[in-house]
Amino acid sequence: MRQKIRKGILAYSAILFPVTFIFLSPYIIIVSAMMGVINGSAIMFAFLFLFSIVGSRLYCGWLCPGGAVQDMAGNANSRPWYGRFKILSKYIIWIIWFSFVIFLWIKNGPLKINPLNMFSVGLAGFLVYFAVASIIYFFTLATGKRGMCHSICWMAPFMVLGGKTADLLHIPRFRLKADREACIACGQCDKKCPMSIGVQKMVQRGNMDNTECICCLECVDGCPKKAISFGISRKQKKIS
Ligand code: SF4
Ligand code: SF4
Repeated sequence: MRQKIRKGILAYSAILFPVTFIFLSPYIIIVSAMMGVINGSAIMFAFLFLFSIVGSRLYCGWLCPGGAVQDMAGNANSRPWYGRFKILSKYIIWIIWFSFVIFLWIKNGPLKINPLNMFSVGLAGFLVYFAVASIIYFFTLATGKRGMCHSICWMAPFMVLGGKTADLLHIPRFRLKADREACIACGQCDKKCPMSIGVQKMVQRGNMDNTECICCLECVDGCPKKAISFGISRKQKKIS
């Protein structure tokens, strides 16, 4: 039932994407910064950073329209897409893009705040929307499950940073918990994970922290032994 609700929310988020993309766009944030404006996307990214200090990456698993588009593509290509270099690329993209945005904010200051800047984006804006939605869809189709989340997403680093900030400051946040004794090594959690994470290994290590986890709870709901649960807690100490 929980997964039906999650997928329903994600699907509706995809329907709203033509309207909400203005608040999620790495391109419009640049155009606004050139005008000396902090726009809705910048405010949204700041909000996601703050939210993730307690909520980790719940947004990615439950609300993100880009995630919904990828899940559609994932139905056609469910190949796992995960690895150190596949993950690293999004941080390189994010550092270049966000450094440029900060540069433009400094150059074009003093800044005005206008959440609705470029709301009337017209035809050009919708072409940008279709380009972004198509890149998300076809990149995932070519790579595998949530390939864009792993390798390109410009929003994920904000939320990974939020989670790291929480851990550094010992702030409790949303995270998974494992019961090593209950696990029968059936591998169902690995199969269910939309982020292609080796969940079974994490359970057997007794440490469920993973920056790629989008808190979708597929592994929690798919485990026949209820060996995975979730809650709000501080960072676990490593179990050897
Ligand atoms: S689904 Fe549950 S029992 Fe099976 S490997 Fe994963 S944690 Fe262990
Ligand atoms: S580890 Fe579990 S909660 Fe995290 S992304 Fe994978 S299935 Fe979802």
